[in-house]
Amino acid sequence: MAAVTAVGLSKHFGEVRAVDDLNIEIADGEFFSMLGPSGSGKTTVLRMVAGFERPTNGSVLLGDQDVTALPAHRRDVNTVFQDYAIFPHMDVLANVEYGLRVKKVDRKERRRRAEEALAAVRLEGFGRRRPTQLSGGQRQRVALARALVNRPKVLLLDEPLGALDLKLRREMQLELKQIQRDVGITFVFVTHDQEEALSMSDRVAVFRDGRVEQVASPVELYESPASSFVAGFVGTSNRIGGDAARRLLGMPGEYAVRPERLRVVAAGESVESGEVALPGRVREVVYLGPITHAIVELDDGPSLTVSRPNTGHASEPPLAASDRPVAVVLHRDSLIALSEVTEETEETA
Ligand code: ATP
Repeated sequence: MAAVTAVGLSKHFGEVRAVDDLNIEIADGEFFSMLGPSGSGKTTVLRMVAGFERPTNGSVLLGDQDVTALPAHRRDVNTVFQDYAIFPHMDVLANVEYGLRVKKVDRKERRRRAEEALAAVRLEGFGRRRPTQLSGGQRQRVALARALVNRPKVLLLDEPLGALDLKLRREMQLELKQIQRDVGITFVFVTHDQEEALSMSDRVAVFRDGRVEQVASPVELYESPASSFVAGFVGTSNRIGGDAARRLLGMPGEYAVRPERLRVVAAGESVESGEVALPGRVREVVYLGPITHAIVELDDGPSLTVSRPNTGHASEPPLAASDRPVAVVLHRDSLIALSEVTEETEETA
């Protein structure tokens, strides 16, 4: 049975359709992410599931119970926000116990469950510390423990790692996923960071203007994006469409191709069957540590980004030949056909 179901869920603020006819089913025990640009409606969905916002239309189910009319405190969910407000004057244990104290759980049981929650977030032995004596990542884990201690069926997380620096954020992503596996609670996670969504989730819903463009596993999302928006928002992708598709590929349609599926060769070099060589010039070479990007302007089409892993010596020359005539080699199998035939340009890479 689904842990969370949204049926025709909408929220309008005056003219703004923050969420527009959303239908999703989130499975029990799933790590489900809602990914999308700022203002696409992710937080509003979360707030409707939590009960902080009343839908304009539609309903929210938790398990098989319609909770649309229930107030937040009567729903079996907990929310962890980005600005993980923990009480500065209480030690860690008191912070984690707080929810249970409100529920009048007796002292011994409270202590036991709080210790258990601290162990789940790997903070055993930190109970007596004050929040000021913790790092950002540790504080974030206290906030998580405070939610876990209530043993909700569903945990809602709104950009919970947003305030952390990049390195800590990456570490916490791995931990959060591990914690979710250990405790087996359904996580609904809001983020605008595509790498974060891909690395942690069982499935991801990509939002755009209050609507869901695609719900899929990370692999499916990356390898078979359903629309040009998804192809552009999740990872870097090159687009070949319209006249360029006809000229370069000999077929109509709109296609995406990932930079790592392309390679640059010297002009005139022969290619394998199934491959197409597109002549152009290297306009820019961007060294990114583990990979290098070359931006190649095609003689008869758009610029393409080609990436190459830096597994050999950084001095290897082929991509660095700025402004020399080259060819971008593309295998037809690496083309992703996009269902939408649109000419959008406003995508975020
Ligand atoms: P972000 O990643 O920036 O948090 P989001 O995808 O979570 O964005 P929401 O916060 O759900 O987006 O907002 C969706 C739309 O609804 C936005 O256009 C926003 O301005 C609007 N909106 C949200 N809350 C309100 C409100 N209380 N009153 C009016 N408009 C609102």
